[in-house]
Amino acid sequence: MSDVILRLALPSPLRRLFDYRAPRGITKAMLSPGMRLRVPFGRREMIGVLVEVADRSEVPADKLKPALELLDPVSPLPPALFKLCLWTAQYYQHSLGDTLSWALPVLLRQGEAAEARQERFWQIAADARLDDPRIARAPRQREALATLGQHPHGVAHPVLGKLGLSKDSLDLLLAKGLVTVEVRRQASTERHERWLAQPELPLNDEQKAAFNAVRAGFGKFHAFLLAGVTGSGKTEVYLQLIRETLEAGKQALILIPEINLGPQTLARFEQRFNARIALLHSAVNDRERLDAWLAARDGEADIIIGTRSALFTPMKNPGLIIIDEEHDGSYKQQEGLRYHARDLALVRAHQENIPILLGSATPSLESLHNAHTGRYGLLYLKHRAGGAQPPRFLRLDVKSRPLDSGISGPMQQAIGQTLAAGQQVLVFLNRRGFAPTLLCHDCGWLSECPRCDARMTVHQRSNELRCHHCGYDERVPRQCPQCNKVDLRPVGAGTERAEERLSILFPDYPVLRVDRDSTSRKDAMNQLFATIQRGQPCILVGTQMLAKGHHFPRVTLVSILDADGGLFSGDFRASERMAQLIVQVAGRAGRAEEPGKVIIQTHLADHPLLVQLTEQGYFAFAEQALSERRAAGLPPFAHLALLRAEAHKPGQAEAFLDEACSEAERIVAEQALGGIELLGPVPAPMERRAGRYRAQLLLQANARAPLHRLISAWLLVLEQMPAGRAVRWSLDVDPVDLY
Ligand code: ADP
Ligand code: ZN
Ligand code: ZN
Repeated sequence: MSDVILRLALPSPLRRLFDYRAPRGITKAMLSPGMRLRVPFGRREMIGVLVEVADRSEVPADKLKPALELLDPVSPLPPALFKLCLWTAQYYQHSLGDTLSWALPVLLRQGEAAEARQERFWQIAADARLDDPRIARAPRQREALATLGQHPHGVAHPVLGKLGLSKDSLDLLLAKGLVTVEVRRQASTERHERWLAQPELPLNDEQKAAFNAVRAGFGKFHAFLLAGVTGSGKTEVYLQLIRETLEAGKQALILIPEINLGPQTLARFEQRFNARIALLHSAVNDRERLDAWLAARDGEADIIIGTRSALFTPMKNPGLIIIDEEHDGSYKQQEGLRYHARDLALVRAHQENIPILLGSATPSLESLHNAHTGRYGLLYLKHRAGGAQPPRFLRLDVKSRPLDSGISGPMQQAIGQTLAAGQQVLVFLNRRGFAPTLLCHDCGWLSECPRCDARMTVHQRSNELRCHHCGYDERVPRQCPQCNKVDLRPVGAGTERAEERLSILFPDYPVLRVDRDSTSRKDAMNQLFATIQRGQPCILVGTQMLAKGHHFPRVTLVSILDADGGLFSGDFRASERMAQLIVQVAGRAGRAEEPGKVIIQTHLADHPLLVQLTEQGYFAFAEQALSERRAAGLPPFAHLALLRAEAHKPGQAEAFLDEACSEAERIVAEQALGGIELLGPVPAPMERRAGRYRAQLLLQANARAPLHRLISAWLLVLEQMPAGRAVRWSLDVDPVDLY
């Protein structure tokens, strides 16, 4: 039996490595970190990743099992990526095996070969002639042969259809020896002489200054925050920096938020460059994802564009990382490995020694703070490119005004006037469904979710009550389940109700709804956008799906029906999020010739943050919000970690957290860790969710190092605690949502 001991990371939540013997015939010289091995695990088999090779193991020799098979001749993970995964697991205190599972394409975790796919290529035979008598009467074969003749390097099988080549004709030609088929790698090693497929816009002075600053940082680590108002031409700056990167023979990685996946965004990159673009987002299938990952790793993709997890794409020649809409919440993963792709991107840029550019019209307070303290270079684009005017803001006090399906009288008038002037209106309401709850007018019964401390939303079109927190649904009852009366009324308004009311108020104009319910069909969103682009007056009603990245040149009025939630929420980030949302939605207005107007309905028209935001803009708001955070000792002036627990029985989660809290106090005292506060345990803001009772314990520290010292010692204890078995618990380092 082999004496070589392998330390493997296995896809398991246990934060430790597992020892195995090397498979028969595998010597030390054949092994390197990152290689995958198939191993027995209990009664199953798993695929593990080699972390290190050792001579001895703590595990008794008779308990050590041999690994079954070595899957890779060389490590599929380049060292830089492996290092990033190690860093991630360490920082988020997460099992390395599980971290690798989140970071790697699913097919690699399942043991697929880590090599570019072999492809069949169809090619015209060297001696084939178009006037071959055997195809004189077969026009389709003649045509196919002619088409192939135009592609001297052959045509890859998957693109036959695109060129109008039918498999039947090709098979007939193959039988006649007029074409050949060759199996080889898709690899095209050609590099483009001319990267630009379309001319660039001449940069204005602000853009040029930003471009030059980042350009000067090429070749070394440097972080920049590009704070550019909506429509200021951030994307144009990205595109020109990418071109510079390509010209330097390097690759560019661009992260975009999930919600920006629209074809509009991707098309801008595809249209600009003659480059090989690898796409890694939720809509690509597992095989495409692996192909894109491999192409990036092997230097066969020039530009890599993807959502959060694309951060873990290896690059052969990394040159630049861009994080678009860096403030966006979708960069933080909310389950399993709770990483923040923006924060990790900085680590990665540092490790790879390349510049990173974070862009946003509404930067996160964290990034602004980093810019203020000199960690990031701060680049402003204060004016809209192409000369469009910034939108004007109006706060509409609705304190004692009746709301008609959520829409006040003055708002209705403003909408009517805009439509009459031949322009488009965007009505924003961040709540799906018809109404947020159903109320019995007789006895006060409310449609509460049986599994959550939350109300169920009325969805009229599907005649359902639906819980947006756990997915539970049921038919809308005809009569009150409590008193049997039939006076059930929807309370409040969601997008469905606003849409219905607006259609009645403005019957001469189309009303288009954009939210997760209306756009679940694949092309629905594209059809909607096509309608909008045609430019006829219409009303768009939607949720935050409307807020991001789209360009609606004919929208001149943005109606925000409800902004108050962000002003009195218990979550300290709520006002930041609200401000970002308002500014992003507002940014859709008046991007072309006509100036835009934004009307915000509010019960808190004098709220200082709202006044600041609407009168002086996002950056003034951010300064105010930052000084409030500083005074309250909240991020970015403090560091947080949140221990969450949930259990089937009430009290269990708290009991676990109580014990965890005492343990933390003990470690803090023993190691003399200063500046750490333990807040809680307290019930989660929504105590019951999907049938489980939830509680949380917040750790707040004024420095990162002691917090991380505490956490790493603490988790070892928590993992052993018997009380932990009855509950589901997880630790969130740098939590974004405190629920
Ligand atoms: P952002 O990404 O900041 O929202 P975009 O890059 O989408 O802004 O630019 C907004 C609009 O301004 C686009 O229509 C774009 O083509 C145009 N634009 C950008 N830069 C320039 C420029 N230098 N000159 C003229 N128009 C520009
Ligand atoms: Zn009732
Ligand atoms: Zn529920």
